[in-house]
Amino acid sequence: VNLPVIETGDDYRTSLRDGRTIYFNGEPVKDVPTHSRFAVAVNVAADTYDRQRAGRQSGSTDPRYSQAMYPRTAQDLRDQVTRFSDPEVSKDLIWLSTHPSLLGIASAADDLAEALPEYSERMRVFVADCLRRNIRCMPTITDSKGDRSLGPSKQPDPDQYVRVVERTSDGVVIRGAKMHIRGASMLHELLVLPTKRMKPEESQWAIACAVPVNSPGVKILNAGWAIDREQSDYYPFSHERTVPLGFVVFDDVLVPWERVFLCGEAEHSATLVHNYGVWGRITEAGMMAADADLYVGLAMLLAEANGIDRIWHVRDKIAELIINSTLIKAGVEAAIANATPTRQGYLAPAELYTNVAKYHGAVNMTRMMTLLQDLAGGAIITSPMPGDLDSPETSDLVLTYMSGAGAADGEYRTRLMYGARDLIADWFAGHWQVLGLHGAGGPYAHRLVARKSYDVEHAKATARAALGLPDLGRR
Ligand SMILES: Cc1cc2nc3c(=O)[nH]c(=O)nc-3n(C[C@H](O)[C@H](O)[C@H](O)COP(=O)(O)OP(=O)(O)OC[C@H]3O[C@@H](n4cnc5c(N)ncnc54)[C@H](O)[C@@H]3O)c2cc1C
Repeated sequence: VNLPVIETGDDYRTSLRDGRTIYFNGEPVKDVPTHSRFAVAVNVAADTYDRQRAGRQSGSTDPRYSQAMYPRTAQDLRDQVTRFSDPEVSKDLIWLSTHPSLLGIASAADDLAEALPEYSERMRVFVADCLRRNIRCMPTITDSKGDRSLGPSKQPDPDQYVRVVERTSDGVVIRGAKMHIRGASMLHELLVLPTKRMKPEESQWAIACAVPVNSPGVKILNAGWAIDREQSDYYPFSHERTVPLGFVVFDDVLVPWERVFLCGEAEHSATLVHNYGVWGRITEAGMMAADADLYVGLAMLLAEANGIDRIWHVRDKIAELIINSTLIKAGVEAAIANATPTRQGYLAPAELYTNVAKYHGAVNMTRMMTLLQDLAGGAIITSPMPGDLDSPETSDLVLTYMSGAGAADGEYRTRLMYGARDLIADWFAGHWQVLGLHGAGGPYAHRLVARKSYDVEHAKATARAALGLPDLGRR
């Protein structure tokens, strides 16, 4: 209540100095904005605040940084999803993921309005307040889960799924851990949602709430890379796509009632994660569509620089990349074209196409990377380093022996190889691939939703009609 609005990049940096408990590699992080592992990501997020403010002040808001959250038209939705194609905007994953996260809460509020009006109203108030404060938040869904073959109530340790350990007149006390939370240490709010539908006997795990990152008892351990801006030559993509991933522990955290969105109503426990799913996945699919385009572009440039662009097997491989890229984009576009209006009058992407696009992108990413690695050749990982290009002792050697076909001189081809290595053959590539696969739920979840949203009855009727067979009903 009455928390300040974050206007500028410096406001954002200051907002992270709020007593939060953060660790990196076993050491407490005293100051997130200046810590070597977080500074790059914090600066990228701070730049977005400054750009948004500059737009507001000049009265000519850059549409790429528009803050409108609710898509009213197909074009609004398209603008949101295609922002990943913009190299500048796409750097700030935290900002780009905040609106889908809030849209998930807003649409769950709609779905729960009749059954649970009080929670629904709290969610609406919370979303409006987040927008007013201009903060960053992320769904905090994935539990530690212990033995995956056992539900929460059967785990030897009941804290393997975040649960309510106490209810008081002030609120609920929660305990457990949520994993892999993107940028957790640089957020303001953690949107804690149950990871799955809970059974009636699992009601203590049916908890959804919003938790400020600096709440007593929240402890965040981090994993991830950090490349500073000085290394941008060698890491042209990853040096600004760095976001630490948080292992978020809730060590008996008191959550006031006004921040509790579900507490024990197991039958509604899947509504929140389900609603977030479609927004999270369309965001990931948009990201993949942008990357797939980049893969096609890189493949063409590499083939030309290597002098192999007219060879049939190379053209064939590029055609395969183009087909994959187009199918992801087609899925995204179909999700937009078939978007459905919500009760509040904004548009939500179609579930079937959203899940299929995300699935297709995720499972074909390895194939696309392999094709590119093939076309690039070994220099993708062995090209001499930026210092070799600069040094008077070695520069000529690099320029001579890294040169390629036509006008592709040694520097051009070396820089091309840096880009390809960073995106598809180095540590960031592996990280990005896993993000594509598991982010916003793994492939199994997409298959489940695809099966549920496809009109199988219509498909069966079509097959029966084609064969002149009777309807035997369902077994
Ligand atoms: C880079 C990255 C960013 C992420 N960001 C976020 C975030 O911001 N917020 C968030 O909440 N989550 C986030 N996630 C988590 C993501 O949603 C999960 O990784 C994903 O849902 C898979 O869960 P898991 O990692 O626990 O894997 P697991 O659930 O352990 O899955 C491993 C394998 O086991 C299978 N499996 C697991 N349980 C069962 C079962 N009961 N029956 C059959 N098969 C099973 C799975 O299908 C899969 O094949 C992120 C993940 C990554 C990698």
